[in-house]
Amino acid sequence: MSNYSDLFGSMVFNDAVMRERLPKATYKALKKTIDEGLPLDPAVAEVVASAMKDWAIEKGATHFTHWFQPLTGITAEKHEAFISPTADGKVILEFSGKELIKGEPDASSFPSGGLRATFEARGYTAWDCTSPAFIKDGSLCIPTAFCSYTGEALDKKTPLLRSMQALSEQALRVLRVFGNATATRVITTVGPEQEYFLIDKQKYHQRKDLIYTGRTLFGARPSKGQELEDHYFGSLKERISAFMKELDEELWKLGVSAKTKHNEVAPAQHELAPIFTTTNIATDHNQLTMETMRKVALRHDLVCLLHEKPFAGVNGSGKHNNWSMSTNDGQNLLDPGYTPHDNAQFLVFLFAVIKAVDDYSDLLRFAAAIPGNDHRLGANEAPPAIISIFLGDQLTDILAQVENGGATSSRQGGELKIGVTTLPGLPKDSTDRNRTSPFAFTGNKFEFRMVGSSASIATANYVLNTIVAEVLDEVASTLEKAEDLDSAVQALLKDIAKKHKKIIFNGNGYSDEWVEEAEKRGLPNIRSTVDSTKALLEEKNLRVMEKHGVLSRVEMQSHYEIALENYIKTINIETLTTLEIAKRQILPAVIAFATQLAESINKIKATGLDVDISAQAELLTEVSNLTALLKKNITSLENAVETAAGMHEDTYALAYFYRFDVYEKMGVLRASADRLETVVDKAFWPLPTYGDMLFDI
Ligand code: ADP
Ligand code: MG
Repeated sequence: MSNYSDLFGSMVFNDAVMRERLPKATYKALKKTIDEGLPLDPAVAEVVASAMKDWAIEKGATHFTHWFQPLTGITAEKHEAFISPTADGKVILEFSGKELIKGEPDASSFPSGGLRATFEARGYTAWDCTSPAFIKDGSLCIPTAFCSYTGEALDKKTPLLRSMQALSEQALRVLRVFGNATATRVITTVGPEQEYFLIDKQKYHQRKDLIYTGRTLFGARPSKGQELEDHYFGSLKERISAFMKELDEELWKLGVSAKTKHNEVAPAQHELAPIFTTTNIATDHNQLTMETMRKVALRHDLVCLLHEKPFAGVNGSGKHNNWSMSTNDGQNLLDPGYTPHDNAQFLVFLFAVIKAVDDYSDLLRFAAAIPGNDHRLGANEAPPAIISIFLGDQLTDILAQVENGGATSSRQGGELKIGVTTLPGLPKDSTDRNRTSPFAFTGNKFEFRMVGSSASIATANYVLNTIVAEVLDEVASTLEKAEDLDSAVQALLKDIAKKHKKIIFNGNGYSDEWVEEAEKRGLPNIRSTVDSTKALLEEKNLRVMEKHGVLSRVEMQSHYEIALENYIKTINIETLTTLEIAKRQILPAVIAFATQLAESINKIKATGLDVDISAQAELLTEVSNLTALLKKNITSLENAVETAAGMHEDTYALAYFYRFDVYEKMGVLRASADRLETVVDKAFWPLPTYGDMLFDI
């Protein structure tokens, strides 16, 4: 298809299709549910299902599936054919409103963290009509929420939808205080930038570590790394650009507005950014983006790596979760704007986010915690594990002025007063770029940069929405009672500035000085996934999630269990893979090389010539010593695995053991193998090297 406007959204049951195919009354009723969050009438669902089925069949679909996002962080599907047998031995194509609204996948194979005993394996999926249905691989996919028989959320979409509702309610209260009588909803918007690696499929298949764990567990640094930064924004290789073109087209068909694509800092690393949309749809689209990337890569004999750290010593991958709030009539609440009235309002929303991030930084840190991300956060690359906010010079200056009694000027020299009626507009690009900050204000939105490249963005966003909803609730309660709005706003902002300026940091987040400074300021530095799970047991966090109806205490407890179990399983798989490669590939290879060296020495000696064989002898000694070390490290890791298997303590203690014992020993083993790689003849080395994978595409 060459006509891109026909291509875009061609596989989506979107607003245009609904308007065209649904009876007017049905369309209106459905729109009300979508736009205003009103309950859905089952009669409406019946009509929609029928129109959806006809449309899907015309597009070649034969099946339908409820598409949901269990707590594994990826998506799940259960396909069913439209066909339904008739009495005369034929079939008709059917799809009822009931099938659209509700599904019953077997929930037993998805993690529930103890929420659901296995004998109650039943789970339900429920249609989320706010995210449009689409066709993928001949199946009509219906975005759904996934919950247990007793109504607990077993997925990431349910808390996300709940959090959007909570934020909307509280933000509207604040808007009313500022005299906005027209907005009926506040929507959070997200544009997630997605980083990924592409490597050659043949090489991928020679690496069991990539296949089983998504990352390389061995590999010495290549002679050339990313130091020249010649890859970043460099011209795209033909094979890569063919991949990107096809990826764009596939995503456009699904209504994903993939917008920018470029190379990233590391060799073989790339990025895709869509145009932002509502959080719910952005989250679904990001899942589709990851899935499509993987699929399209294979068609080009490439493999797409979404792991946060596929290659040690080379930049890892993340997602920049660009986030803002906007009214349903299109006003971005984090846009500094040009009108005085909007500025006081802007500052209130801005300060609310600052307070929320400071009060709940531990919860936000958990939202970015998955085992793969431990290699990035707090490991000397973007971003650090300490949560801080980058505001830029101008807004930081305003914050300081507010604290000292009220802002009277902006850095640009214009008059600036924190009154409802006296603020001039702030220049739009009042923020600089700072790539080291985990949470940066970038002009008219915040960019949360901690999220891992393979993770669902749902967790980050429902945490963000909920904690901001909580502070907006506090803010609204204060301002609603105020007799003089002007001075109440002044006092409120001053209070926030005073108490929460400690979270503002505009400097280099990678520096050691910042780690020290942050400690002085009392900001948490939570280095690992295991540590981060403690946030789920904190009373303040349980309270805020429960209060806004996002996650119950029981659901929080289950997320805690799942996070730890997932950590243990991940490290266990990595460990077993490490051992398998070390014992069955690397050890035999280095022994073969040593044997060849020994034979060479013997053969030279047998000539009877007076030859200097010290080089061979030294190399043989070095290889043999390193091999002995490798073997010792293998045994030590095996012992750790055995100890872990015999542990009967609680999940936290076991996860802790995996982090600080098993994982550490895996690193020690790797180091000895990587040293061997640098001295062993390449012809003997059983794995494609970093150089082969990163530069040979
Ligand atoms: P950079 O790489 O410089 O950070 P990009 O332009 O690649 O910036 O990405 C910025 C992302 O932020 C895009 O996905 C864009 O759609 C998104 N974005 C822009 N405005 C908003 C907003 N109001 N809310 C959420 N996301 C936004
Ligand atoms: Mg960015």
